[in-house]
Amino acid sequence: MRMRGEKNVAMIDPFGRAITYLRVSVTDRCDLRCVYCMAEDMTFLPKKDLLSLEELDRLCGAFIRLGTTKLRLTGGEPLVRRGVMALFESLAARLGNGLEELTLTTNGTQLAKHAQKLADIGVKRVNVSIDTLNPEKFAAITRWGKIEPILDGVFAAKAARLAIKINAVAMKGVNDDDFDSMVAWCGEHGFDLCLIEVMPMGEIGDGRTDQYLPLSVVRSRLRRRWTLEETDYRTGGPARYFTVAETGRRIGFITPMTHNFCESCNRVRLTCTGTLFMCLGQEDSADLRSVLRSGVDEAGLDQAIREAISRKPKGHDFIIDRRHDRPAVGRHMSVTGG
Ligand code: SAM
Ligand code: SF4
Repeated sequence: MRMRGEKNVAMIDPFGRAITYLRVSVTDRCDLRCVYCMAEDMTFLPKKDLLSLEELDRLCGAFIRLGTTKLRLTGGEPLVRRGVMALFESLAARLGNGLEELTLTTNGTQLAKHAQKLADIGVKRVNVSIDTLNPEKFAAITRWGKIEPILDGVFAAKAARLAIKINAVAMKGVNDDDFDSMVAWCGEHGFDLCLIEVMPMGEIGDGRTDQYLPLSVVRSRLRRRWTLEETDYRTGGPARYFTVAETGRRIGFITPMTHNFCESCNRVRLTCTGTLFMCLGQEDSADLRSVLRSGVDEAGLDQAIREAISRKPKGHDFIIDRRHDRPAVGRHMSVTGG
């Protein structure tokens, strides 16, 4: 089935949505331990459970064959996976040949090392997660991270002419007074900014109701200093974008708790163990690692992916309130990929 006006769309889910965007978590490991994302003493997956880089490449190739035009590598921290640049290179070789965009979400710790190479192979944009520019707060949020190498990474990416979007998770009483300075900093350096509400994913140790800060509150506070002009810019994701008139840069608000963005969802997520999640907020999944390791041919692989897409649910069921102070979804964001 094809949607009118769409080219090369091979995967349409039961609700008529074209699935053109795959996010791939290439590792569950990370060199930071952000408080909203991981417990301090995380147990990571045994290496044998991970897909090899070759298996990841083969699966991504199948998705591209089936109409995926945009790939984002994430994690965990994608740039800490050994050999990941070889995967980037082999995926980048498909740009212009079905694949239109290859990108990544990173914490930036290794970005200074890799930014130029990423740009050279055809990556055009990068999302870097920085929740505050204050070094002490940054260390507290990430449990031990240092902001300086990350800023070096951001400026290496800028020097390599990658478009940069800064992602920041809004936390009540933690970084809620940092956003004015982040809007100014992003404006000064030509970066977009995206603010994210905390999502209830995985046990992290502390109560999440304490962290939850509705972005409607953040937005009205920002409006005291900045003129936020509505735009109709959309990425098919949950962000709603405004232009900051004073800087000319975009600011996005990802509000999964207060807005329903599911009708326009164009994406699915693959974990580093080859589990495909059709919805970030639901448990249903498909085990593509078993399919891969059963010795299946390409037609069989395509068939398994299509079967999974035929089970994509209509939407998520996230709730955070005093009675539901537990994760709506047991897995961590670092497993599914943000
Ligand atoms: N390590 C990389 C990074 O930090 O950008 C990529 C993976 S990280 C899981 C992707 C994004 O998910 C980051 O922007 C992070 O802030 C966000 N994230 C992680 N846990 C979250 C949660 N519980 N709620 C909302 N966003 C979360
Ligand atoms: Fe690591 Fe990213 Fe999770 Fe922070 S948000 S712990 S950097 S995976």
